Amino acid sequence: MPSPPVDLRSDTVTRPGPEMRRAMAAAEVGDDVLGEDPTVQRLEAEVAERLGHEAALFVPSGTMGNLLALLSWCRPGDEVVVGEGAHSYTSESGGGAALAGVQFTVAGRGGFFSPAELAARITTEEPHGHTAPTGLVMVENTHNRGGGKVMSPADFAALSEVCSARDLPLHIDGARLWNAAMASGLDPSAWSTLADSVTVCLSKGLGAPAGSVLCGDAAFIKHAHRRRKMLGGGMRQAGILAAAGLYALANHLPDLALDHARAARLAQAVSLLPGIEIDLATVQTNIVIFTVTDRSPAEYCAAVAPQVRVLPFGPRQVRAVLHRDVDDAQVDRAIGAFTRLAEV
Ligand SMILES: *Cc1c(COP(=O)(O)O)cnc(C)c1O
Repeated sequence: MPSPPVDLRSDTVTRPGPEMRRAMAAAEVGDDVLGEDPTVQRLEAEVAERLGHEAALFVPSGTMGNLLALLSWCRPGDEVVVGEGAHSYTSESGGGAALAGVQFTVAGRGGFFSPAELAARITTEEPHGHTAPTGLVMVENTHNRGGGKVMSPADFAALSEVCSARDLPLHIDGARLWNAAMASGLDPSAWSTLADSVTVCLSKGLGAPAGSVLCGDAAFIKHAHRRRKMLGGGMRQAGILAAAGLYALANHLPDLALDHARAARLAQAVSLLPGIEIDLATVQTNIVIFTVTDRSPAEYCAAVAPQVRVLPFGPRQVRAVLHRDVDDAQVDRAIGAFTRLAEV
């Protein structure tokens, strides 16, 4: 029997292990729509505290967390400044436009932007009503399409200053803020306390089966809470899911360092192969994006699929994501598959 392919499509493919499942089975639960689930309340309090925010809201997905931020900060017709390739813009089904009525505008190149690039994208109302005024600035950290790269707290602080000076709210799409923190040797609060709201995912590298947490001040979370219900995101005995998140926060954070080391090893190995170009400087966390030069990304992914599953991720790019269900031996197998393909 050949081994199943190494699955590097995303860090969302992780499955809860026996201990996480035991924590889920043992969770104390109640009806969270009625405000009676103690485990959800514990998770919300813990994430709010870790991120240095007043309040938090457990949501089914990162997509819903980001959408709630758009719905809560913006009015229909507002414009939202994002980096190039922002998940909220490219990968959340157009929900910002369809459900929050906002339009996105891109600042900078490659996912991040400077204070000057941000300032150039800020729009204010003008007397005749032509413009779509900026309602929110959103920073994705780490940046998925940017190869998992990290925006430093200093660079983020400079953006935060521009937002404060212009009285604009600042949201972090922190699906992988845990990875940014691990790579920098800092707490996630190094960024989150400089923002008005932040979404973090429990179902990516942390390995929970579902769930994200949106944080902000109490008034913001009250607003988002009503809109979560409106979107159908009110969950009843959700403590079973929240318990997985609490378990992951207590036990899985240090393992992100292993994912980062494996991503660096994989990136280094593929950088030596003919037919592949990679900017090793972008490989700072658990994501490896490389350019294939002698076949299309779809052909490349299909060719390696029996040994390793990766995704086409742009006109010439392929993405591999390291996660807790991939060990060193599997990384070796993936490198072997990429190497054999480069030799044919
Ligand atoms: C995964 C992800 C999200 C949220 O995705 P869901 O699948 O809805 O939980 C948001 N932003 C980024 C950058 C992501 O990678």
